[in-house]
Amino acid sequence: MGRIIGIDLGTTNSLVSYWEDGASHLIPNRFGEFLTPSVVSIGKNGTVYVGAAAKQRMITQPENTVSVFKRAMGTDRTYNLRGKWYRAEELSALILKALKEDAEAYLKEPVEEAIISVPAYFNDIARKATRKAGQLAGLRVDRIINEPSAAALACQQANPQQDAKLLVFDLGGGTLDVSLVDCMDNVIEILAVSGNNHLGGSDFDRVLAEHFCVKNQMVLGALKPGQQEIILKAAEKAKIDLSYAEEATMRAAFDNQEWSLVVSRQTLIQISAPLFKKIAAPIKRVLNDAQIQPSELTRVVMVGGSSKMFVVQQYLKFLLKNVSFAVADPDHMIALGVGIFAGIKERNEDVRDLILTDICPFSLGTGVINRDDPSKGDYMSTLIPRNSSLPASHIGKYSTSVDNQKKVTIGVYQGEDLYVNNNLYLGEMTVSVPPAPEGKEHVMVRFTYDINGLLVVDLHVPSTGEKKQLVFVNGVTQEADDDLKKQIQELEKLVIAPKEDQNNQMILSRAEGLYAQLTGDAKKVLEGHIRTFTKILASGSKTKAMKASKALMTYMDLCEQLYLQKEEVNGDLDDFQSWFAGLNSAEDDEDMEDWGGIGFLS
Ligand code: ADP
Ligand code: MG
Repeated sequence: MGRIIGIDLGTTNSLVSYWEDGASHLIPNRFGEFLTPSVVSIGKNGTVYVGAAAKQRMITQPENTVSVFKRAMGTDRTYNLRGKWYRAEELSALILKALKEDAEAYLKEPVEEAIISVPAYFNDIARKATRKAGQLAGLRVDRIINEPSAAALACQQANPQQDAKLLVFDLGGGTLDVSLVDCMDNVIEILAVSGNNHLGGSDFDRVLAEHFCVKNQMVLGALKPGQQEIILKAAEKAKIDLSYAEEATMRAAFDNQEWSLVVSRQTLIQISAPLFKKIAAPIKRVLNDAQIQPSELTRVVMVGGSSKMFVVQQYLKFLLKNVSFAVADPDHMIALGVGIFAGIKERNEDVRDLILTDICPFSLGTGVINRDDPSKGDYMSTLIPRNSSLPASHIGKYSTSVDNQKKVTIGVYQGEDLYVNNNLYLGEMTVSVPPAPEGKEHVMVRFTYDINGLLVVDLHVPSTGEKKQLVFVNGVTQEADDDLKKQIQELEKLVIAPKEDQNNQMILSRAEGLYAQLTGDAKKVLEGHIRTFTKILASGSKTKAMKASKALMTYMDLCEQLYLQKEEVNGDLDDFQSWFAGLNSAEDDEDMEDWGGIGFLS
């Protein structure tokens, strides 16, 4: 099996990595640099420039040079370069091709497969475009992974910590990705993700550039593109200088004139107040989504080039007081993490045992009739909620909405809006139903979604037995060929997690056996444990299941010691009483998912 490379295809910079000798390594490009700017420029004779050479041409040849096209991945936007139109995936393919060649030169062997990371909130169409970019560059891309998963993995490998809850904060050049990651034993689970794909270091550059122009009686937008580039570049330099010093001097020269301006960290904070507010929003959202208090975080992991900004670090420390921070190698973390994935995919011995669970970064659902305000269109009825652990499978029951309805159409949508019209339409399927009064006929709808972007929608009409299936691969409908059929079968197996299931079943039977022997309060507490454990198993969360099983086993060990083998106990009844009281109050908690008792048991 050939070598697999890992690629962090960034908005601003891209990196490539590989796995060898039990570690992930970065591969330098032809200039000896790890970072290749994600910039493409086309020369007079059709020569393609990529990376640093293209970035340099932003100033001399702005009309033939493009950057930040990752933001347009999966959209119809095209870019004109010397009279020819290019889509974002075609431009990305040029970057990938350069990275592939650099990797081949460095590794001295051909490379045919890559794993590419994307922002967690990329929708299926953007993921599909990324895969296509790989294909255009001559790379097979079986696996697309979320950037925060990669960052968490790299962090956990560099600094393994038992049962760590990490908040991964990734501020790059054009995107912000915030995610909550739970790491326990060999399981890394993403609990929640959020972000903003229109927020990054280049926004700070623009704010500084505009400030510079205002102070020098210029209007940034009114300057020639090449001149704007000069000022933006000076702004970026000043911004980077401010990461290491209280003040920086911004200089720009063109048209035989020179301008300069001294800027301080204080100024930077003042002029970019709106950006700071946008930074706070996704942080609050993930904490809220995962129902986690900042005090429960093990650490904040800062990645992405803009995480080096002193003012951003200070702001985060203000937002998340008393939490420990790690700013380790922010530029390289994601690429190193993707390299670890490459190792996993190569089935490398060193990392074989690592289990990685991922989550669905968006909600998937169908439309249901909106009688409240039909003008707004159907309501979104979510089947797989955002942040569900993958693979996920959920069934919904839908009923006819008028008397003698003949057909039911199930639309498939992706997104968070209340109305399907504002979400992404993926496709639809229609089934016939026998005539009956309104609400009397039903359609069972099952959505199954896996880590590779495979979505299977199954319809079942119980009264007629009719069944239909629709398959999407990265958001696009697909006829199921033999390969895909195999994948779907695999997925069906995965959903019930056979191996872990067996282990959990064993724990459950032990608990049931013990339950039969216990009496009084101890029996009641065990019953609560069993109920919680069963509920968590149904939720599909691997880390929660593991914690709940540990808690259950600890309690069973103790019960066996205290009640079944009384002679072995050396007293210490007080400890047990307080522990016991804690358990009871945790049981009162309405929301078992957030069951506080788990934490202090281990
Ligand atoms: P992306 O993920 O978008 O490709 P990166 O993680 O490579 O981006 O980050 C690029 C951004 O980081 C740019 O806006 C760059 O100006 C900024 N950056 C890089 N180094 C520093 C630094 N030392 N201080 C502040 N900003 C920096
Ligand atoms: Mg990045």
